[in-house]
Amino acid sequence: MFQRILVANRGEIALRILRAATELGVETVAVYSMGDEGAPYLDLADETICIGPAASGASYLSIPSIISAAEVADVDAIHPGYGFLSENAAFAETCRESNIEFIGPSHETMRLLGDKANARKLAQAHKVPIVPGSDGLLKDEKEAVKIAEEFGYPVLIKATAGGGGRGMRVAHNDMSLVNAFHQARAEAQSAFGDAGVYVEKYLDNPRHVEIQIIGDSHGSVIHLGERECSVQRRHQKLLEETPSPALTRDMRKKMGQAAIRLAKAAKYVGAGTVEFLVEGKHFYFIEVNARIQVEHPITEMVTSIDLLKEQIRVASGEKLSIEQNRVRWHGHSIEVRINAEDPNKDFAPSPGTISRYIAPGGPGIRIDTHIFGGYRVPPHYDSLIAKLIVHGPDRQAAIRTLERALDEYVIEGIKTTIPLLREIVRNSYFVKGDYNTGFIDEFFQL
Ligand code: ADP
Repeated sequence: MFQRILVANRGEIALRILRAATELGVETVAVYSMGDEGAPYLDLADETICIGPAASGASYLSIPSIISAAEVADVDAIHPGYGFLSENAAFAETCRESNIEFIGPSHETMRLLGDKANARKLAQAHKVPIVPGSDGLLKDEKEAVKIAEEFGYPVLIKATAGGGGRGMRVAHNDMSLVNAFHQARAEAQSAFGDAGVYVEKYLDNPRHVEIQIIGDSHGSVIHLGERECSVQRRHQKLLEETPSPALTRDMRKKMGQAAIRLAKAAKYVGAGTVEFLVEGKHFYFIEVNARIQVEHPITEMVTSIDLLKEQIRVASGEKLSIEQNRVRWHGHSIEVRINAEDPNKDFAPSPGTISRYIAPGGPGIRIDTHIFGGYRVPPHYDSLIAKLIVHGPDRQAAIRTLERALDEYVIEGIKTTIPLLREIVRNSYFVKGDYNTGFIDEFFQL
């Protein structure tokens, strides 16, 4: 096991990593930007190091600053959390060159899977169904049109380096496809420095269901079941639950096996997520997220497996602490993302000081957050400020607990997504489990 690790992130996930490391008896070093100076979660680390100004480009995204901090603090490993440098293969490679373990897959695995067009090819080669579309990158707009005619419109142009819903464009006919092709390339070049795009058939409001996997360096990979993430606004998840109301036992088994096949083919070590779109009984691979995800707690609630601890263990060379046939799933869990955003102003960020804060409590409730009354939400970062996670014996019980917890939750001084989440959990289609990625557009004028 490592002696000392550095947490290269901020906010709730930095706190989550600090807690896991502390329970494992591992010393911690937290880095922070000037925008997070004095944040109380930093007090939980054994050592803290300022890595630069508030702007993340010069701090949480700065490879030289983080590597220097790691060298000064003499750590064995770096946990990147999610976002920032977590899926940056160059960062993972620099860690290795500096003799620091990167808590995540190897840079070779990250390069292979981080390129979505390549990941599709790998999936296809291992009999993991993919959304119909191009074989690799598109050479030009003519090729896009040819493929679209073969599969039928609408189609989706996607950036191979894409993420966070950026670099995607829907096209309904030849003309809009030619435009979408050029726009997506330009957007991908400026956002990701890689203009490569490919085309997929645009499915009609599928469900988004993903499989959590984790692998060790001894060749074992297991899956921990699925997460249903179809409640999305502009391709961004708002609520996640497990188990998915849409999966049969047979689909769950097939998707789990497909995810493991793909992970093994990529020599995957660490925690990861294999994302699929689901239509009826069919599932189609879309991409791998080679990191811990925001919504990992719901899997922890139903399996009682601490994914962060497991990630740190396997990165240090230990074997997975559990075998596939010993994984058990209990009850139902739902997570909602509480963002500092104003739903009445097109979800514009709403930074500022939290004047009053009362968190819900009682049976079945977990809150992953670094905020409290008096905390000032800085304007520089992602607007996620808290995750409310509930667990119940079954789906209806979990929904009831979530309703009550959201009603108890008081966050004043800034605007949050809590009022919208309260409506979502009371929507009759949500309550029935009858929803897909078109749900928010259908029921909410946002
Ligand atoms: P990103 O990496 O940018 O988040 P993803 O490939 O994970 O992009 O897709 C994000 C979301 O976009 C999915 O959850 C789904 O709602 C939608 N989506 C992606 N591909 C398709 C498709 N082929 N047809 C319909 N919807 C899609």
